[in-house]
Amino acid sequence: MNSFYHSTRSNSDSVTSKQAILRGIAPDGGLYVADWLGEKKLNLARVCGQGFQQTAELVLGALLPDFTADEISACVAAAYGEQWDTPACCPVTKLGDDWLLELYHGPTSAFKDVALQMLPQLMGVASKDGEAGGKNIMIVTATSGDTGKAALDGFAGVDGCGVTVFYPEGKVSDIQYLQMATQAGANVAVSAVRGNFDDCQTTVKQIFADRELAGRLAEKGCVLSSANSINVGRLAPQVTYYFDSYAQLVRTGAIELGDVVTYCVPTGNFGDVLAGYYAKLLGLPVGKLIVASNSNDVLTDFLTTGTYNRLRPFNKTISPSMDILVSSNLERMLYYFCDGDCELVASLMADLAEKGSYTVPPAVLERIRSVFACGRADDDDTRAQISGTWDKLGVLIDPHTAVAKKVLDETAADGSARVVLSTASPYKFSADVLAALDEDTDGMNGFACMDALAAKTSTVAPAQLSGLRDAAVLHTDVNDREGMGAFVEAACARVFQ
Ligand SMILES: *Cc1c(COP(=O)(O)O)cnc(C)c1O
Repeated sequence: MNSFYHSTRSNSDSVTSKQAILRGIAPDGGLYVADWLGEKKLNLARVCGQGFQQTAELVLGALLPDFTADEISACVAAAYGEQWDTPACCPVTKLGDDWLLELYHGPTSAFKDVALQMLPQLMGVASKDGEAGGKNIMIVTATSGDTGKAALDGFAGVDGCGVTVFYPEGKVSDIQYLQMATQAGANVAVSAVRGNFDDCQTTVKQIFADRELAGRLAEKGCVLSSANSINVGRLAPQVTYYFDSYAQLVRTGAIELGDVVTYCVPTGNFGDVLAGYYAKLLGLPVGKLIVASNSNDVLTDFLTTGTYNRLRPFNKTISPSMDILVSSNLERMLYYFCDGDCELVASLMADLAEKGSYTVPPAVLERIRSVFACGRADDDDTRAQISGTWDKLGVLIDPHTAVAKKVLDETAADGSARVVLSTASPYKFSADVLAALDEDTDGMNGFACMDALAAKTSTVAPAQLSGLRDAAVLHTDVNDREGMGAFVEAACARVFQ
């Protein structure tokens, strides 16, 4: 069986999963995909009898076949250990008649930890052999808030790696800002950017495509790589919690082995929900995957009409990690639903770049819609869900989770067990959660809101968030888009001097 990855836009170059992880994005701008995905199914009975870490080993072993079993188990031990505040890592809890998959028990209180505690471990192993041997790796990432801190936490102190994070100035919560601005470590660099998240992300893509910059860095023994959700090493770890949540539901008796489960996923870059599709290909009995958008509803429109159009107003919402107009990981989904037609994917992506939109053939849309459902929630809907869920169910949820809850509530029940992916601790967005609970937040900073939220709900803020109030701000840089390339180059020089 072939075990290589290639670009969504051409299948001429085959790379191992280690190479794909080190490169992040393919040289032609496409994303790495595997044609053999799903040829071998995971053993579901076995998954149901084991814990999160063992399932992580099984999933990663299947998706990253050139890693040895010993390498994988060392990575899993390092990524899913004591830094999680529960040994289950991603527990499933009750949400009325449905279920909540709590993905926020890692070191930065958001679901990106599941992937970003693992990716640096995988990169560390991959960089030891093959083409990157001996080179220093500078991770460059654009963040709408959560990815940045999760990348910083995952890569800080990892030998042979540095990490540079760009976030849109003024468009992250004050707690997210502090999480990044206070990050310690000799190998980290953080800068605000004048613009929105898509500006950051587009410019980071241009930095990766800059051959001259790459040449100058290569002379100094340094390569750039990505920690964004397009990296195979980000996507693969996320598949684990789909399988593990299913196992938890079987063990509690909520479902029987083989029953179909529906997942509702608050999504922006389409990474999280795509991992659910990968789980389905690997044999998990997934019913519908419901894509939940906030008012930046480009995905909802796409899944409804077949036309993806990024030329639309950008809305700043109270679920900022989903404020995205270009959902990068969608390209992988297109690849699979176009039957691996690289030319078609390349031409759709060229349309997106040149005209700002593309339309998939009707037959492709129909197949996509047989797997993916969708819905949207605006900020008022989101606030109503936060307060309704607290009042009626006694469960405190963050705004991203609330978007998914609203969309799930609007979806006709089909008798299957239904799981809402809960992607952040409500305390990461204390001000908006508190305001949704009808409390006055005027003039209160993030910490005052945290305290008030704890007092009102008799819940406890995660220590890694409440502890930020005593941490020193270490990063104050602000750049225009034009200055981002030079900032990366300077960071490489400083970190790898
Ligand atoms: C990143 C993020 C999302 C969206 O995840 P994608 O992989 O971009 O779809 C949702 N909620 C939170 C809290 C996030 O940080």
